Amino acid sequence: MTDLSWEQKADAYSLYGFTDLPSVHDRGAVVVTHGEGPYIFDTQGRKYLDANSGLWNMVAGFDHPGLIAAAQAQYARFSGYHAFFGRMSDQTVLLSEKLVEVSPFDRGRVFYTNSGSEANDTMVKMLWFLHAAEGKPQRRKILTRMNAYHGVTAVSASMTGKPYNSVFGLPLPGFIHLSCPHYWRFGQEGETEEQFTARMAAELEATILKEGADTIAAFFAEPVMGAGGVIPPSKGYFQAVAPILRKYGIPLISDEVICGFGRTGNTWGCETYDFMPDAIISSKNLTAGLFPMGTVILGPDLADRMQAAVETIEEFPHGFTASGHPVGCAIALKAIDVVMNEGLAENVNRLAPRLEAGLAEIAQNPNIGELRGVGYMWALEAVKDRATKTPFDGSLSVSERIANTCTDMGLICRPLGQSVVLCPPFILTEPQMDEMFEKLDKALKKVFAEVA
Ligand SMILES: *Cc1c(COP(=O)(O)O)cnc(C)c1O
Repeated sequence: MTDLSWEQKADAYSLYGFTDLPSVHDRGAVVVTHGEGPYIFDTQGRKYLDANSGLWNMVAGFDHPGLIAAAQAQYARFSGYHAFFGRMSDQTVLLSEKLVEVSPFDRGRVFYTNSGSEANDTMVKMLWFLHAAEGKPQRRKILTRMNAYHGVTAVSASMTGKPYNSVFGLPLPGFIHLSCPHYWRFGQEGETEEQFTARMAAELEATILKEGADTIAAFFAEPVMGAGGVIPPSKGYFQAVAPILRKYGIPLISDEVICGFGRTGNTWGCETYDFMPDAIISSKNLTAGLFPMGTVILGPDLADRMQAAVETIEEFPHGFTASGHPVGCAIALKAIDVVMNEGLAENVNRLAPRLEAGLAEIAQNPNIGELRGVGYMWALEAVKDRATKTPFDGSLSVSERIANTCTDMGLICRPLGQSVVLCPPFILTEPQMDEMFEKLDKALKKVFAEVA
């Protein structure tokens, strides 16, 4: 079948994940050959500005020389190893030390996985393990929120608050989804944002009392919900829920897979929203997208309790073959340095107001109901009627149309529900940002003219 095109071969032999199949049948796949800075190129020679940083993660662009050199040097030095049986690579040792140093914790411990999903899954297993070791094996329930995205493994998909997981018969029992703290969409008639936040907090406490605090293992939250539609918390949300969790001894786990390492304008999303979690889940930006890696970073209390539990049972029977891979760790060490010390975090801070202002201008469009986000993560939500926040008919697939029109114009952005997501790489220059604004604005006007 050598006469097939790249796109036809992609169709013939691959199963697409998270892909709107009618769109692909209609338009064909895009087969990407390489990237330069924030741009990718396909087999047809077309060039696209990737305003989604790959999948949020390629924050230093697609060909960062320092990161590539770090990978090549480590492959030459020691090309692969695990972290079992009391052995681990020197790079793994260095990265754990670094992660604790840059974390909001005074002390802590790090455990490695190959993805964000596995890191959440691992965190849940750690909590089940340590609660059981502390004589509370019934503390197994996990609290998350509707619209949260925590991954795709059976446990992390159960934590995810999206209806699409029902096709798998998920969530598993014991995974409880609280309301989504999105004031614009879920605030009630006449309710202020403060009242809305108080209602979210009251729901949390009522749920804890109903379920029984001693049946709950933890509460997981993304500082800003990412794949759920870029939803920042309502005003004062974490200040309202954190004390309730503390009162009932329920650990607060910050899923920083998207927010971590600069996306919200600080190293961590919990800094931006001013709360102290008990543990952090990191992935995506951790290696600037150059290596599959996730981590659980335990703060002092959970680190001590986990260590005590392991001492009791003598082993934590968990780990992935490629956990703490030396090449991944070397890349992560370099990526942290590049983001924090080579101007990337600075770019985000300097240009985030410009990004927000440009998008705010585009959001004047009467068919944009809300512009929301922080730092370098934003969403524009399309509405049929701005005053009533009425969405477009689902059958119009408005956000897919917008994203497809952008793709035709050489801009990659992502449809999510009725929103379009922009989360550009941290290396984006001002002219590249203007290119993004221009193409997005044009695409929105074209699509809204078609569906109006
Ligand atoms: C992407 C994501 C995950 C899952 O990470 P994978 O590496 O895709 O498994 C988990 N949590 C959040 C907040 C994410 O954005």
